[in-house]
Amino acid sequence: MTGAVKSAIGLGALLQDGIGDTVRVSLAADPVEEVRVGFEILKALGLRERGVRIIACPSCARQQFPVIETVKTLEERLSHIQTPITLSIIGCVVNGPGEARETDIGLTGGGRGTHQIYLNGVTDHRISDKGIADHIVELVERKVAEIERQA
Ligand code: SF4
Repeated sequence: MTGAVKSAIGLGALLQDGIGDTVRVSLAADPVEEVRVGFEILKALGLRERGVRIIACPSCARQQFPVIETVKTLEERLSHIQTPITLSIIGCVVNGPGEARETDIGLTGGGRGTHQIYLNGVTDHRISDKGIADHIVELVERKVAEIERQA
């Protein structure tokens, strides 16, 4: 974590100024993690698109489902996706609809254990607390297959 932050600051400042053609992140961790952090830096700077870019709120007392745990699960379960796609995971209606309008797939927490799913920025259907991650994974994989068919 500390190494990733330092790399992001050090490399990010150079890359932001257009300096550098290749990136090598060094961490006291599994080399796979170094590659992941390198791609995350490039994605954050808008220099590379790869895989699922998750936009999430920091969560607070208004969250209608456990945002942080859900994002963590989705990051793991969607790590095999290479096709660029955006996904918003937002705990409540304060920021959910706005973020969902800008993403391919969106989830906004709603009351009484039901939450809103958006597809291509438009409200589509509601889901219950049960199986949120399974449902989102299925939606992302379906959308990726659709994007790859059109490519
Ligand atoms: S979107 Fe809602 S749950 Fe998320 S941080 Fe903002 S107010 Fe809290």
